Amino acid sequence: MSTGSESPLPAKRGVNEVAGHPAAEGESKGLSVEGSKGDAVLDSSTLRPLDAAKQPKYPVYERFYTWQGEGVHLGRAAYFIRLYGCPQHCPWCDSAGTWHPEYRPESVGLMDAQALADAVAAESPAGAVVIITGGEPILFDLAPLTDALHAIGRRVHIETSGIAPLRGELDWVTLSPKPTQKWPLPEVVAHADEVKIIVHEPQDIAAGLATLDGLRDDAVIWLHPEWSRAREREMRVLNAITEAVKADPRLRAGYQMHKLYRADDLDEHSDKRLIPLGGNERLGY
Ligand code: SF4
Repeated sequence: MSTGSESPLPAKRGVNEVAGHPAAEGESKGLSVEGSKGDAVLDSSTLRPLDAAKQPKYPVYERFYTWQGEGVHLGRAAYFIRLYGCPQHCPWCDSAGTWHPEYRPESVGLMDAQALADAVAAESPAGAVVIITGGEPILFDLAPLTDALHAIGRRVHIETSGIAPLRGELDWVTLSPKPTQKWPLPEVVAHADEVKIIVHEPQDIAAGLATLDGLRDDAVIWLHPEWSRAREREMRVLNAITEAVKADPRLRAGYQMHKLYRADDLDEHSDKRLIPLGGNERLGY
């Protein structure tokens, strides 16, 4: 749920009318859904609310091959599938194009599980893990997608805030709770292999930890400075992380390494416009 780059703010973008989609309930108006690069195409005038069980097509905001920039799997070659839609609306979101009305694109391509698996196989070598992120990918039934990716021999990871039941066979679950928004379900907390708490203010550490009842003892808990804080070297935030880790060895200090490398930008498919919302007063946050 977090890749991106620093780039100038995009201008407000025009959007079209859209029918409801399971990824974006309550927020999907103003988006057409169409294919690109050979994907399925739906005319906006014919769109209907999608039944995920009958039409397991996923709205793919972007997909790109890069490496994992954070967490236990830092540095591993990874193919990212970023799905559209998120109800969490974090004020510092760095994937605002997946939900924010100022940033979302005019259209989002729909791809079914096999088309995505084919793209992964064509655009990344065997051994690269696949990371399904968003937006909020847990809103979708990922079972067809994880089955298709396993069929081509890929490990499948998810990055989620855990607000709905997990569907699909996931090889690794990264939980990023959003304590000021909707909390993760206990069943997702119990499945988490690692946790990523985003620290915008020092008190976010305790708030994030409070959401983790039932976390496995072997799950890794990362404290990540929210990117605008890290970028500006906000020492009160960085020092709070340092002190928390020193006080509780369960915790680890994290960083979004890919943003230093700007690694994601190198893939032609990645969205170069993704930016953190953090601290943008013009947008009202
Ligand atoms: S959970 Fe928050 S940070 Fe992640 S995509 Fe949604 S709004 Fe953005």
